[in-house]
Amino acid sequence: MAPARRTVAVMSRLLRWVLAVGVSVVIAVSAIGVLTASQRSSTPASDSVTSSNARAGDQQDLENLARVDAESQIRDLLGDRSEAVQRKDRRAFLATVDRSRTKLVKAQRTMYANLRTLPLTVFSYRTSGDFFEIDDEDVTNRRARATVIEDVQFEGADRAPVSNLLEMTFVERDGAWLVASPGKSTAKLSAPQSRPWEGGPVDFEQRDDLVVVVDQDASATAASLADSIQSQVASNADLLNIKPRFNLVVDATSSGRGVRFAAEKREFASAVSFEGYYFSDDGDREAGSVGNRIKYNPKQTSELIADRGLLRHELTHFLTAGNLRAEPTWVSEGLAEYVGYYPSRPSGLVIDSEVFERVNGKPRILPTSLKFGLDPSADYLLSYCAATYLIDTYGMDKFTKFRRSFDAEGESPDAQVGQRLRRVFGINKSELADQTWETFNTFNQR
Ligand SMILES: [Zn+2]
Repeated sequence: MAPARRTVAVMSRLLRWVLAVGVSVVIAVSAIGVLTASQRSSTPASDSVTSSNARAGDQQDLENLARVDAESQIRDLLGDRSEAVQRKDRRAFLATVDRSRTKLVKAQRTMYANLRTLPLTVFSYRTSGDFFEIDDEDVTNRRARATVIEDVQFEGADRAPVSNLLEMTFVERDGAWLVASPGKSTAKLSAPQSRPWEGGPVDFEQRDDLVVVVDQDASATAASLADSIQSQVASNADLLNIKPRFNLVVDATSSGRGVRFAAEKREFASAVSFEGYYFSDDGDREAGSVGNRIKYNPKQTSELIADRGLLRHELTHFLTAGNLRAEPTWVSEGLAEYVGYYPSRPSGLVIDSEVFERVNGKPRILPTSLKFGLDPSADYLLSYCAATYLIDTYGMDKFTKFRRSFDAEGESPDAQVGQRLRRVFGINKSELADQTWETFNTFNQR
């Protein structure tokens, strides 16, 4: 994740953690929804004890049957929808949608066109376990809400389908279930998601494993962004002393939402780099990422795609993604900032004197992973200075060794820092803090 450039950016590990938490929250809430629905249906009639129990039992059986029936019809509907995309059958796709909603139908036409345009090898839906909630207060127009898993695989870029968890709503019209809203992300907090087909018309540029998706009315930018990514991956990999790779989907469309630094913050990241995973039917994330995404803040795409530093920052996360599991946030964000500003150093950069004074006066400790992003400008600037000191003093390879020395198991990454610093560089935490602030003091002020 990158700060609103030159001010601020959260790190992939934290985001993945937040995503995992977000997913379990969603599941818990949905499970409660199911419980409440069946509790409501068990309200007994009055009469004698025995007959009312029997009647309530019958009633409940009937309601359960109706419910199971609705669930299986909705599963079939999603199956039809997946198949329509696969068979390139536009009419069948639109037939899954509640036609009384003209805005929805129009949006669904665009979505279908986008799905046809993009280089996708898989696009399909699954329902996630029992996470159904049926509202049958209006008996003739029952409504349902379900957690749906959308599986999408980009040709070349993805090793397997990347799953997006969505909340979809359905409505029953004349005995048939239809899509009432095509799905918004269930991902809470700052968990990122890239679904470029969900908004306006899109266009794309493909270079082997690299796919760049842009708004159709900005299609002229796709090729130059792809050029830029290819050359920046090559130079980043060179600086990081690792092998370049290009299996990446870059979403530079205005679709979707931006990603916040922290739930309570109004600051949004300029861009975010993250890994996509496949989810089991229960909504659990399977081990090992299957795709890589960079998503630009959809509200500012046009200004941001010209920003080379931002791109270099996000490409650093992409290129080092396999190593992110264990390291503290300041380490990965510090490295991404180092590469983003390279070949500049703090001594060649200018920051606001107000920011300078404020950050300089902060307690001399590096931000911990859980608190990272609560004060984005300070967190990124200090991480950048710490990484700059370590890389410029000990070399990139030693910094890579330091990053890889963290264990994903056991103690938190922050708790491992002191021991790893001593082992790899022979320095302690307070020495690093002193050097970080010394480096910070080389920033120019304006
Ligand atoms: Zn970042």
